[in-house]
Amino acid sequence: MRIGIPRALLYHWYGKAWESFLLACGFTPVVSPPTGRRQVELGVRAAQDEICLPVKVFMGHVRYLAEVEKVDAVFVPHQIQVEKNRFICPKFMGLPDMVRAVLPRGMPMLLWLNDRQRHLWSVQAVDGQIRRKLPKEKIRRALSLARQVASERWTELAQAAGSQNQGLQIGVIAHPYCLYDGHLSMDLLGRLRAADVQVLTPEMTPDRWLQAKIPGLNKPLFWTLGRRIMAAALYYAEQGVDGVIHLAAFGCGPESVVGELVARRLQEHGIPLLGLNLDEHTGEAGFATRLEAFLDLVTRRKSCCG
Ligand code: SF4
Repeated sequence: MRIGIPRALLYHWYGKAWESFLLACGFTPVVSPPTGRRQVELGVRAAQDEICLPVKVFMGHVRYLAEVEKVDAVFVPHQIQVEKNRFICPKFMGLPDMVRAVLPRGMPMLLWLNDRQRHLWSVQAVDGQIRRKLPKEKIRRALSLARQVASERWTELAQAAGSQNQGLQIGVIAHPYCLYDGHLSMDLLGRLRAADVQVLTPEMTPDRWLQAKIPGLNKPLFWTLGRRIMAAALYYAEQGVDGVIHLAAFGCGPESVVGELVARRLQEHGIPLLGLNLDEHTGEAGFATRLEAFLDLVTRRKSCCG
């Protein structure tokens, strides 16, 4: 059975683990190709206007798998809670319903449901269609392998992305599905590496920063991704980075709040911030010009202020 995995949303964290899980269960995983104009257009046509760009792109990958790859089923991560007392944004909760609306009639979905009761790597998280078909022991072994693959992926993401020289050090804040999707991010990481910039990403932020209470807030941030962005920004400030780039997805509700909090904190620390909004119409020329101008500005600032 060929099961399509959309290369979007939290695929950029867990995708390799999902692939190894499905393989170990005896299925054939088929991952959609990296995002390109085709997936964006398919997604934009399928999704409602007010949906954020990353979810539109996810829908584009689903349609690609169903219509071009003609897979037998589509794997849909229904991730509501991947860590204790924090939640992924509500759009993830509605993902299966949105996917159902664009799948050809009769094409099954296989869910991976993580919520308060179903831990990330528990047998209960696995879709009932797989649980009914395979022995529990086989599923457990596949999950343990998947967990190992996920931990290798985290190690890979936590390693320095970019130059180790004493030049510019720039912190990037973004959701993983914007940052690690080369098309959506306009290859921001590649551009920074090419400019010999040392880059910090949220995945490089030490765990103690991610878990620490964020000072100055009346109540805790309960979104996993927003909290990571906020914690990463505070960590970058403590590291004394030369500047921060915030890649934000058009239509993202949580980010409109977190982005404002981040901007205020960085301003208090006197750290320059470049905000880049991504939508389906973002042009490469404008993006490159703004990035270049920002790097020029922080380079000059560093050389004159030390
Ligand atoms: S956090 Fe923002 S970008 Fe991510 S799915 Fe939710 S609304 Fe979309």
